[in-house]
Amino acid sequence: MSLWPINNKRPIIAGPCALESRQQLKASVKLLKKYDIPVFRACLWKPRTKPGWDGIGYLGVGMLLEETLSAGMIPATEVVTARHAECLAESIKAFDPQAKMLLWIGARNQNHFEVSEIARILSRGPEGIYLMFKNQMWEDEAHWLGIAEHLLEHGFPRERLLTCHRGFAPGKTPNPHNLRNIPEFEMSMRVKSKLSIPTIFDPSHIGGSPENIHSMMKQALTYNYDGFIIEVHPHPVIAKTDSKQQLAPHQFEELLHLIDNQSVVHQHLNGD
Ligand code: PEP
Ligand code: MN
Repeated sequence: MSLWPINNKRPIIAGPCALESRQQLKASVKLLKKYDIPVFRACLWKPRTKPGWDGIGYLGVGMLLEETLSAGMIPATEVVTARHAECLAESIKAFDPQAKMLLWIGARNQNHFEVSEIARILSRGPEGIYLMFKNQMWEDEAHWLGIAEHLLEHGFPRERLLTCHRGFAPGKTPNPHNLRNIPEFEMSMRVKSKLSIPTIFDPSHIGGSPENIHSMMKQALTYNYDGFIIEVHPHPVIAKTDSKQQLAPHQFEELLHLIDNQSVVHQHLNGD
């Protein structure tokens, strides 16, 4: 079984960086529904570099599930601790035990004890839960592959596991376009083939700005990614987190055009 609903032509996960209020959530769901986006993302807990607003927390769990499921979308959010995973698994079971939900482990979450506990909890079901792990912040292929080993070792089924390339923190190498994180396209394709799991590309955390997101997406479309995760906000200037990289509705629409057009070129070249 795939994360994407049957016949949905858009393997895209999109939504705001963080869930900020019921009003922002409703506006975002309405916007993305218009473009037939199957999976809606919004973080409830935000690990921060400096102290500040760190997410709506448990208060947002019911809101996220209600608004997305009632709109026929699949909810997606980051779990930072095993308690978060337990709460979301219990909540989706109460809402609809058959529903699909995507949870992900973020780049900053590199404690294998916590990650293994998350896998143990989610392996108990419900079976509609998919788990995605992002690559860690620093460049290291062995570590990235190792996260998968921990999750599989603790019982999470490979059939519902995905990974996501969100780039690596810039080191001392030149970064002329001022990307927020540096992509390693070839490495991500090796990881995909070694693990045999769907590999998602995150242009938002790599690009860091609408222009860079567009150019990163252009490059990514020449690789064999299985989907994209994109940050979109109804009013990015007032976003509480990642305001510089969340796309405004018209910028998101431009990106969708790019994806649709390039996919057509690909199908043409591959003769399918
Ligand atoms: C996010 O997706 O909002 C996020 C925090 O991403 P990352 O873990 O890649 O920094
Ligand atoms: Mn973000």
